Amino acid sequence: MARRKKIYEGKAKILYEGPEPGTLVQYFKDDATAFNAQKKDVIEGKGVLNNRLSEFFMTGLNQIGVPTHFLKRLNMREQLVRSCEIIPLEVIVRNYAAGSLTQRLGIAEGTQLPRPIVEYCYKDDALGDPLVTEEHIAAFGWASQQDMDDVLSLALRVNDFLSGVMLAVGIRLVDFKIEIGRVYEGDFQRLVVADEISPDSCRLWDIESGQKLDKDVFRRDLGNLTDAYSEVARRLGVMPKNSGHAKPTLIN
Ligand code: C5P
Repeated sequence: MARRKKIYEGKAKILYEGPEPGTLVQYFKDDATAFNAQKKDVIEGKGVLNNRLSEFFMTGLNQIGVPTHFLKRLNMREQLVRSCEIIPLEVIVRNYAAGSLTQRLGIAEGTQLPRPIVEYCYKDDALGDPLVTEEHIAAFGWASQQDMDDVLSLALRVNDFLSGVMLAVGIRLVDFKIEIGRVYEGDFQRLVVADEISPDSCRLWDIESGQKLDKDVFRRDLGNLTDAYSEVARRLGVMPKNSGHAKPTLIN
């Protein structure tokens, strides 16, 4: 059997050449990293859960007319996605203060923000993904003004969708990060939500108890990460109902 071509390997995923031109296979690894990969571990089952959860969120977004790169899930760890040119920005939306915002501005963790705050970080591991302004983005040509208008509108639509979906299962969407890609259709380009949407890239707190159900469990050694992600999956109905303590390997 011919070995498939690896296009890119990141910290949590691998991209392989897809079966059709313009497609890629996105493989979810079990590797967990935090603090720009200074903290690392392999968390068995994480990739399976994130593949399923990202499928769930991206499918919902596609259904409400927010374009994403997601085409279909292929198996436990892989999904077929549209190949796109990633804008080198991490687009962060915050509803409640947490993480770097609390450190930067001294706002107590959990404070509700007066409105969603959208931030941009320049995607560069060597620099630690620094926060940038639209001035930097325009000056260095990472995205045009039209692109940034579209990015902002996509980010806020994703925020409304995810906040509502999570609220319905008793989870607060504190903040999240998305990446945006360009897809070319003839002479036109369209922006789509790319990469993944999963508890690796969101902060999710149980509304009643405040329990953290996201990657902060790993970052801050708060317990078992797959238990937290499995709980999110179980509430969203992504895990089979009878799987008890939700062994990720049961999913397909
Ligand atoms: O660390 P910070 O508070 O800036 O993170 C904001 C949100 O963006 C969190 O949900 C975090 O998980 C996500 N994020 C991410 N990847 C990064 C940086 C932040 O998914 N490289």
